Amino acid sequence: MKILKIDHLGVAVKSIDTGKNFWTDVLGLRFEGTETVAEQKVTTAFLPVGESEVELLESTAPDGPIAKYLEKKGEGIQHIAFRVENIDAALAELKAKGIQLIDEKPRHGAGGARIAFIHPKAASGVLVELCERD
Ligand code: ZN
Repeated sequence: MKILKIDHLGVAVKSIDTGKNFWTDVLGLRFEGTETVAEQKVTTAFLPVGESEVELLESTAPDGPIAKYLEKKGEGIQHIAFRVENIDAALAELKAKGIQLIDEKPRHGAGGARIAFIHPKAASGVLVELCERD
């Protein structure tokens, strides 16, 4: 598979409204608004950093994946996302190698991306997201 770059780092926060302050006021990153992905029960905010971004993730429901993450681990880096040239080819390659996937097929992410998660068990305990953007 062809990995193009680190697309973004996903950071779980209790609240984007207050959680963004460190990233914007202290680090000076630009806040460009939020987007809710209803099917993932998450609201996201992407803050550009050069060629990559920081993604802040806030849960929209107590049973969502980010709510569960916060409950278990508290705020922090929740996933790392790599941009791939072709996500279908990447998933096919991983499947052929017997890598444990959370998503067998790409689904919709924020910003019109197609995304899929690899299981942390296959990746040194790191939740890895693959994403393809036009
Ligand atoms: Zn992400």
